[in-house]
Amino acid sequence: MRVLVIEDDAMLGKAIVQALEDAGMSVDWVRDGQLGDEAAAVGGHGLLLLDLGLPGRSGLEILRSLRTSGDKRPILVITARDELDDRVTGLDLGADDYLVKPFEVKELLARMRAVLRRHGGQAVSVLGTSEIELDLSSHEVTYRGLSQVLPAREFALMHALLERPGTILSRAQLEERLYGWGQEVESNAIDVLIHYVRRKFDKDIIHNVRGAGWMVPR
Ligand code: CA
Repeated sequence: MRVLVIEDDAMLGKAIVQALEDAGMSVDWVRDGQLGDEAAAVGGHGLLLLDLGLPGRSGLEILRSLRTSGDKRPILVITARDELDDRVTGLDLGADDYLVKPFEVKELLARMRAVLRRHGGQAVSVLGTSEIELDLSSHEVTYRGLSQVLPAREFALMHALLERPGTILSRAQLEERLYGWGQEVESNAIDVLIHYVRRKFDKDIIHNVRGAGWMVPR
């Protein structure tokens, strides 16, 4: 999943980006409210992490304009301890949840999973087909009885494919999903990841559709 982080605090922003990337997400981080607004409007992010106190444009304004324009994506608000009123306003404006600084990265990830579950209406944290199972919290993949915990990007690849079994994802679609803006992507990056996953399990775990992309069978 691709996440947009709008946070002006350099240290916190960096820590969040690192944690999310370690968890297999691709992250775009902006440190200014105006840029955040523009980045959110571009779309493509499955979840937004939004600080309230921002230069340029406040988090509440961004939230309000997104919800007013009918944007229903999950938004998790990050607030300072003394911003209680803003937090309440944020929830009223349609934020899905909030976290008070300072918070543990573990808690952030757990809240994100909870928000995503509510949005997806999923009661479970496992994606899968008849042959493959992917545990979204432990990053463990089980294929034909063999289980392995995947590193971040390999997990992100399988996550993308398993969200829509039977659907072909092109190289461009996978790159967009797995890498943030401005990130250098080697032309064979996706092939390398697929090679690693296949080597761990079996070639058949991911099907290659010549000239079109890759998929996992339903
Ligand atoms: Ca701030």
